[in-house]
Amino acid sequence: MPHVFHSEHGDRMPELPEAEVVARQIRAGLLGAQLIDVWIGRADIVREGYDTARWYCGGTLRSVERFGKSVALGFVNSHACRYVVAELGMTGLLLFQSAATKHPQHVHVKLSFEGGREPELRYWNPRRFGRLSLLDKAGLDRYRTRRFGLDPLAVSQQDFVRLLQERRGRLKALLMHQQVIAGIGNIYANEILFRAGLHPNLQVSQLSVRKIETLYTIMCEVLDEAIRHGGSSVRDFYAPDGSEGQYKRRHLVYGKEGRTCPNHCGGVIQRLRGERSSYFCPQCQAARSKRHA
Ligand SMILES: [Zn+2]
Repeated sequence: MPHVFHSEHGDRMPELPEAEVVARQIRAGLLGAQLIDVWIGRADIVREGYDTARWYCGGTLRSVERFGKSVALGFVNSHACRYVVAELGMTGLLLFQSAATKHPQHVHVKLSFEGGREPELRYWNPRRFGRLSLLDKAGLDRYRTRRFGLDPLAVSQQDFVRLLQERRGRLKALLMHQQVIAGIGNIYANEILFRAGLHPNLQVSQLSVRKIETLYTIMCEVLDEAIRHGGSSVRDFYAPDGSEGQYKRRHLVYGKEGRTCPNHCGGVIQRLRGERSSYFCPQCQAARSKRHA
């Protein structure tokens, strides 16, 4: 039976696992390759640094990093270093030439390479919500500081506990707050909280250290597992090689309201509508934290 997804507008945003899959594929396909041509079809797709586009020609791709939901390509040219930072916004994709694009008119940037496994990387974005930025190291540092908090795959358990203990407010909103913890959006927030048995609207201040530690472990497990399965293609996410993420088959609560709880507790998955809907099992995810639990 096909899944019926009720994904909202914002849930089309790739999250950390999708961005990580993109970074890993580009690393495998293009690290060490030389950039021989940069074609920019529309100047307004470049948020910052349009005038520097020529600098990149002849540069070598030396690093591919993920920051939150963005991917930064680091180029070295004449001993200087600059970055192409791609926001993987709503339907904004980085695709290899080999991945057939359904709508070639939406390819706004083409980077041509020599010496890699792929001849070309394209920035494809029919809705133009995402942007590219051409930045030097200082610009990249500013970009990161402004947008991204701690990375869930890099933060230690101790720092994660400390971070949550310093915060107030509802748990799911905090997990999705990019300036606090970068990369988790609505899909993974719902999946993590269900597996951790924590209600999305719990006050962070009610959580015991033990519960925060469990949350940390499950957050890492869910994100790692999602990366291993190529991320979640809920609507329009494709990896650079054109493949779809398979983790959507492993979603337990996201988009599944009205279904019986996969924990066989007898509960039914509920949807709490809001700006970003919460999906949860009222039996497994109690709205109030039990003291000393
Ligand atoms: Zn349940």
